[in-house]
Amino acid sequence: MTNEAGIQPIRGTRGANDPGPRNQILDLQNPDVFIPPETDNGSLPNLKFPFALAHNRLEDGGWAREVTLREFPASKSMAGVNMRLGPGVVRELHWHKEAEWAYILQGTARLTVVDPDGNLSIDDLKPGDMWLVPSGIPHSIQGMEDGTEFLLVFDDGNFSENETLLITEYMAHTPPSVLAKNFGVDAEHFANIPKSEKYIFRQPVPQPLEVVRSQLPDSPPPQPYVVHASKIEPTKYSGGTVKTVDSRTFPVTNLSALIIEIEPGGMREMHWHPDADEWQYYIEGEARMTVFDATSKARTFNYRAGDVGFVPKTLGHYIENIGSTPVRVVNVFNSRLCTDISLNQWLALTPPELVRGHLNLDDTVMKALRPGVRAVVR
Ligand code: MN
Ligand code: MN
Repeated sequence: MTNEAGIQPIRGTRGANDPGPRNQILDLQNPDVFIPPETDNGSLPNLKFPFALAHNRLEDGGWAREVTLREFPASKSMAGVNMRLGPGVVRELHWHKEAEWAYILQGTARLTVVDPDGNLSIDDLKPGDMWLVPSGIPHSIQGMEDGTEFLLVFDDGNFSENETLLITEYMAHTPPSVLAKNFGVDAEHFANIPKSEKYIFRQPVPQPLEVVRSQLPDSPPPQPYVVHASKIEPTKYSGGTVKTVDSRTFPVTNLSALIIEIEPGGMREMHWHPDADEWQYYIEGEARMTVFDATSKARTFNYRAGDVGFVPKTLGHYIENIGSTPVRVVNVFNSRLCTDISLNQWLALTPPELVRGHLNLDDTVMKALRPGVRAVVR
């Protein structure tokens, strides 16, 4: 690739060619960063971090990588993990201080959870299904015959997947005499427990769900920790679809989510969220987003599969499909309910003379203002 190939940082009379050195692959993936729209202004923090730049932890039969506050300083309120578990491979029994929201990307994952009242949940989740494990609640994850890949979102940017409370470490760091007393058996029976974490490790693919469930008490938690969201029909709009999963349909969750599909030419309309930050994961397609903040700050970013985006609470934004294939993006909010303010609806419900007085809009624009949820437009 020569320095003359690809895009150049020229917009009208502004800019000049870039003779190099330059990373042309990144330039081509981030055209709105390399050649920002004229409307961009001022300094906003970076609001994109690709999982492809996150350290990948390769383990026995799986891997895990994380985008936390350390990788992505803007995302103070939430952190994300992308994990792969091969057939039978287990993410060790553990718990953590943060709540864990999950979205299955590939294959089948088996989740086990036990609650404080002795209720238990064992379920198999398919792509599009979700779980929410509250703070402090113990759980494990296992890949089924087809293995699994999934996304985890935690309600604190300081979370680290490498610093969870693990069953192996808890046992290894308790005096054997205490283990003996706790379980009512002699200490020698604990001679073979692991000295350190197993974290991710191979096991045989477990028995079918009905078999495993039949071996344990039939005592499901009163509010399920899983939601088979793959079976929920999305709401259709002119430019795509939106599936909402929040505490109205998934009472246990303290993190709400939108699964958005934007057709080529479509756009998630201009809006903001009055009470929540938005953590984004792009599943497919090519998109751009401009984020607006006071005073006069605006910055545009490009996103594609595997990228994480972030929008701080109350900042204006849209997500535009700039490719020729659908954009699919997951939005996770650190609030129990999904709420947003639509720019179009706000103006439509404001006295027209007041709107005209501010913006000098002509009749065509004034007639285009209408209340109601539009969500994804074209
Ligand atoms: Mn966990
Ligand atoms: Mn949003």
